[in-house]
Amino acid sequence: MYTSTAIARRRCLAARADGTPCRAWALWDDPGQRCLVHAGRNHHGPLLPGPTAPRRARYTPCLCPGYAWPHRPGGGWCRWPDPPLERCPIPAGTHGWPRRT
Ligand SMILES: [Zn+2]
Ligand SMILES: [Zn+2]
Repeated sequence: MYTSTAIARRRCLAARADGTPCRAWALWDDPGQRCLVHAGRNHHGPLLPGPTAPRRARYTPCLCPGYAWPHRPGGGWCRWPDPPLERCPIPAGTHGWPRRT
């Protein structure tokens, strides 16, 4: 769960057409911390027939000591962007294979 500091870092900073703040999550790699629509990366034009490959979020892994491995920021033991209160007791390298991607 995101802390209030993490929510402030992840919220889209743009305003909607009616002037109210946008409530969407910002893209991880947008320099202006804007959401998909406000960064202009939403879908344009006709939809292609058939299913499209799902695209994963491109976040920079968090390297805080909450986990012994690089992890998605702000989940579980990680309190990104703040330092964690406790560490995850699981050592690195215990993930089973094959890994689903
Ligand atoms: Zn937005
Ligand atoms: Zn972390």
